[in-house]
Amino acid sequence: MRGSSDLLATSVRYLKGVGPRRASLLNRLGVETIRDLLYLFPRRYEDRTTFTPIAALKPGERATICGVVREISEYKPRAGMNITRVMVTDGSGAAYGVWFNQPYMKKRFKQGMRVAFSGKVNLKYRRIEINSPEFEEMDGSEPLNAGRMVPIYPLTEGLSQRWLREQMRLVADSYAGFIGEILPEAILKKYSFPNRVDAIRAMHFPSCPEELEAARRRLAFEELFLMQLCVSSYRRHAARVTGYSHKPDSPLVDQVICSLPFKLTSAQERVWHEISTDMEKPSPMNRLLQGDVGSGKTVLAILAMAKCVQSGYQAAMMAPTEILAEQHFKSVSRVLTPFGIRVGLLTSSTTQKVRRDLLNGVEKGSIDVLVGTHALLQEGVAFRELTLAITDEQHRFGVRQRASLISKGLTPDTLVMTATPIPRTLALTLYGDLDISIIDEMPPGRQPVQTSWFPPAKRGEVYSWVRERLTQGDQAYVVCPLIEESDTVESAAAVELAQELERKWFKGLRVGVLHGRLKSTEKLQVLEAFRCGEISVLVSTTVVEVGIDVPNATVLVVEGAERFGLAELHQLRGRVGRGVKPSYCFLLADPRSDVARERLDVLTRTQSGFEIAEEDLKLRGPGEFLGTRQHGELQFRVADLTKDLDLLLRARDEAEALLRFDPHLDDLPSLKQILYQRFYEKVPFATVG
Ligand code: ADP
Ligand code: MG
Repeated sequence: MRGSSDLLATSVRYLKGVGPRRASLLNRLGVETIRDLLYLFPRRYEDRTTFTPIAALKPGERATICGVVREISEYKPRAGMNITRVMVTDGSGAAYGVWFNQPYMKKRFKQGMRVAFSGKVNLKYRRIEINSPEFEEMDGSEPLNAGRMVPIYPLTEGLSQRWLREQMRLVADSYAGFIGEILPEAILKKYSFPNRVDAIRAMHFPSCPEELEAARRRLAFEELFLMQLCVSSYRRHAARVTGYSHKPDSPLVDQVICSLPFKLTSAQERVWHEISTDMEKPSPMNRLLQGDVGSGKTVLAILAMAKCVQSGYQAAMMAPTEILAEQHFKSVSRVLTPFGIRVGLLTSSTTQKVRRDLLNGVEKGSIDVLVGTHALLQEGVAFRELTLAITDEQHRFGVRQRASLISKGLTPDTLVMTATPIPRTLALTLYGDLDISIIDEMPPGRQPVQTSWFPPAKRGEVYSWVRERLTQGDQAYVVCPLIEESDTVESAAAVELAQELERKWFKGLRVGVLHGRLKSTEKLQVLEAFRCGEISVLVSTTVVEVGIDVPNATVLVVEGAERFGLAELHQLRGRVGRGVKPSYCFLLADPRSDVARERLDVLTRTQSGFEIAEEDLKLRGPGEFLGTRQHGELQFRVADLTKDLDLLLRARDEAEALLRFDPHLDDLPSLKQILYQRFYEKVPFATVG
């Protein structure tokens, strides 16, 4: 065991035919060891299994032919230029392989040799030619470069496909066998998965598409299974911890519900039932609440807080920005203070004195609910008895912050709210340790936001139209293009855009600006002026994205919309359509590719955040989708979250089942070892005895 694992950990530079120079090229591809090389899977494959008769070749197409070498000739049209031609015939016709300035090529061929050529077909002076074809001698041994499904590897300057394939062939033959199986026998049988060694070999040199797909699925399953084992062990760990039980019946909650100016939607009722059931259990709640912008998540958070306070405890709610914290504070106070619940607000702009009193109250228990930004996580914030921690992440995925708010209490119930609909595969992976509630219904009376996109040439038309609405008393948001370099540049751009709009299209109307360089009091002032209608147009950087609620704003214009992610645009669009009047969203965009165009079309087609999320995931892939590379959890080599949902669900079930019988994986030491290596600090086996 030890010997073989050491062997695979050997540096590739000691492989025959590699050496220091090529080893450093391989390092650029992330390959250090022999094991890494085995896991350097092809980007794609070319099917060169079928040979086209030469007579049937069509110029311009890629094809593979097989024939016998008849003639090898060299031609020097002028100094410094050398053309090598190799003619092959296959009984239907003759074709030439042609190489420029590679005189050594003629030595690779002999008359009478059977060869396969693969490449793009040209017709030149009525001769059929393939320039620099990939070629392979067909001498009866297993071919590598033609006459099969040929692996196409990621390359770096200085490495060739041909060389890498040969190297891979050697490594697959001599070393793959040392790779040990890690999946339990029962799972291999149940799903008829190939074993690990065969799967890895087949990834490189599949004999047919079916074999390749079977290998891919097995390796994808393995990745997802490891991930899910980690996630499940977390869940199991969490379920064993004792937390607080909140009281089952709370007349206060019923009173709060009655006091609301609306009836809960049936989706809200269902989710409320899920949350309150969790809260009553002694094990801590770990719940993710997903719902589209405006679906009414906040009210559920408020009910949960009421239930918490009714049981004699304290609740905290953390928002990603000050504006949003302030807004939550207002909504929470509006609903809960009439019932004698004491609500506090803590942000980084809270003054020292207020802060001191507030923290004192939190510690003594005279504050029941504390709303705030990440300031809640600071030293010195100590609760008397925190039993409910709510995080409103909007579109941010602050997994780490989530963890530290939790550590403020003993083991409080936690509820994470997010308005970014996450495709199911991502939710299961990123938030797999959480139970998920979904509000999939909008409050009644909401009208869809009519969305359309326009090229830059139509900008004037759009703004004239917007002006019409404004003169009728509506309000509008205009979002500036996303400028990633710096806050300062972006803020300056916002100011400039506001001036331009005021000068050109919105003469006589009041235009306000909101950007990241404003102090938070200034931000709140601008926002208040917009809320009460003093300002007609709010020009803003993406700060408006997060949860601002001004029902009279019915028009949203996004400049440079092609630069935004779909989820972001959808969030932005959620700023309008919050009242009873019809609302409009104009995306000014200059899409440079079909994908960019398609992304804009998706938004004009649908209002459903979930549908948009699925499309976005398909168009961009998981890493891009989340807009960040830090999600190492999501970087799979083989598994594809856009199409492997079925495998993911199976992996999850199998992981659960396995841990039920063997919670510490005592019977599967090699699996356990791999989990430790990959997810060390995340697997709680180590800490739970
Ligand atoms: P979210 O946080 O999901 O974006 P909010 O909780 O802010 O949504 O709700 C958006 C708006 O809809 C708020 O003004 C809220 O008062 C209102 N609302 C919430 N639930 C309902 C409901 N069941 N019926 C009518 N209006 C509702
Ligand atoms: Mg909200």
